[in-house]
Amino acid sequence: MQEQPLEAFTREPKIAYFSMEIGLSSEIPTYSGGLGVLAGDTVRSSADLKLPMVGVTLLTKKGYFRQELDDSGRQIELPDEWEPRMFMTPLPERAAVSIEGREVMVGAWLYVVESVTGGRVPIIFLDTDLPENSGEDRGITHHLYGGDEAYRLKQEIVLGIGGVRMLDELGFEIKKYHMNEGHSSLLTLELLRIHKRDIEEVWDERLVWDAEKVRGLCVFTTHTPVEAGHDKFSYDLVQRVMDELIPLGVIKEFGGEDRLNMTLLGLNLSNYINGVAKRHRDVSRGMFPGYEISSITNGVHSFTWTSGSFRALYDKYLPGWANEPEIFVRIGRVPDEEIWAAHMEAKRTLIDHVNRETGAGMDYDTLTIGFARRATAYKRADLLFSDVERLRRIGTGRIQVIYAGKAHPKDEPGKRLIQRIFEIREALRGSINVVYLKNYDMALALKLVSGVDVWLNTPLRPYEASGTSGMKAAHNGVLNFSVLDGWWIEGHIEGYTGWAIGPPPGVPSDPEKDAEDLYRKLEDVVIPAFYNDRKHWIRMMQNAIGKVAYYFNSHRMMRRYVTEAYIR
Ligand SMILES: *Cc1c(COP(=O)(O)O)cnc(C)c1O
Repeated sequence: MQEQPLEAFTREPKIAYFSMEIGLSSEIPTYSGGLGVLAGDTVRSSADLKLPMVGVTLLTKKGYFRQELDDSGRQIELPDEWEPRMFMTPLPERAAVSIEGREVMVGAWLYVVESVTGGRVPIIFLDTDLPENSGEDRGITHHLYGGDEAYRLKQEIVLGIGGVRMLDELGFEIKKYHMNEGHSSLLTLELLRIHKRDIEEVWDERLVWDAEKVRGLCVFTTHTPVEAGHDKFSYDLVQRVMDELIPLGVIKEFGGEDRLNMTLLGLNLSNYINGVAKRHRDVSRGMFPGYEISSITNGVHSFTWTSGSFRALYDKYLPGWANEPEIFVRIGRVPDEEIWAAHMEAKRTLIDHVNRETGAGMDYDTLTIGFARRATAYKRADLLFSDVERLRRIGTGRIQVIYAGKAHPKDEPGKRLIQRIFEIREALRGSINVVYLKNYDMALALKLVSGVDVWLNTPLRPYEASGTSGMKAAHNGVLNFSVLDGWWIEGHIEGYTGWAIGPPPGVPSDPEKDAEDLYRKLEDVVIPAFYNDRKHWIRMMQNAIGKVAYYFNSHRMMRRYVTEAYIR
């Protein structure tokens, strides 16, 4: 229980960081995946660096969902209820938003991210589950990514509009609003309303809307390289659910003529816009021609994503690393045997966990490949199984494979992918040990990214905007074996920091060639290096730490947000 008066946080102006989901810990299931974990790493680094930040998100009291898997790999979704009172403090203040003509009250909870440096970042969790609201409205902040379009729009009204009003109610002075993806873009409309020009005689209605002023306050980060991934609402729905905060004509001017496109709204009303990797910036420029789109490549919070054994190792040889990951540049000081010992300790922890959970009988010495991410078609979790017989030939007695990942409840192809992996697990029984662990969350992620030998990623390009789990792996000396998409284009040096799968970035993707390359390299390069050239393997582990973790951390990312986005 953290009990801090809010006054400590409202004395100086803040950057408000808005995110639909934030991954603070496994016990607080208000995140679904990469976007939320990135938000968590953002606030953790901000606390370490003592940045003047306040986070705003939804309470989502029933979480995303807890995943069970039956014997055939069918996903069962259970509510993931948690008790906010165990982690945060309810605040007495209220804000109001209008939804379907009703006044809906929004409450707030205060969670404080505390750093060992003494830095502290308050997170405001918005909550409509209040006695003053009707039954339906109380549920608006219950489920992360649940419900239908109307439900999503209501959540976005609470987050964007309610969030701005709540910050004001709590006494915060905000100098920048950072939208982590389009879910919070409605905040721009509230800012337009607040900063409306006071013109006596209006000869042109549009002149009262001070878009320039709002742009100066807003920063927008896009995360989605797929057109369908951007939230869009029909204006029928918008008019039914949202009150006329500002005239529809003005909304259309910024949010699109045909439908309210939350990304477009964010882009039109921000004067700093970025993608989350260089390649993603280029893809985004193609999707939204005419906008000035920069890039700040994602990073992960070094301390959070380093296993106990590597933390101890870094403390011994690289003191200060956690708040200054640049110190990884001196990884060459660490003796090979100690790197390997730290790795084996993390690996034993994972293998013991796997055997306890599944009875799979995995062993410590077999080359272990990990693949854990959202189960959705473009991630191609089954690329490794494109040719089962070939894999059997290459891998029998030489590899074991650990999978994990949730499929969104409405993503049927994603769910079938999990079942397919279960089928192939059966087909390979007796030759290659494959397991699928249920309920992938942050705690399991740390075990996986630190305990396997190779971290596999096989997305269909260019759909991986950045990806971050491979950066976590690198913090633990685990080698990436991945398609050249997202961040890996920037982190990959062949045979040095890890290995690529498939063609270089400029060459169009071909699934068959990707699979061919995966098998060939696994057989000729990865497996032989692991079993026959341990010295080279450990050199690559050092490079993963000294080059990849050195750069792909959220301290570097936040310093760049400060200098490129916040201070301008
Ligand atoms: C880091 C993380 C992710 C994001 O990893 P990707 O490489 O982007 O798939 C998703 N889920 C959890 C639980 C994580 O810890």
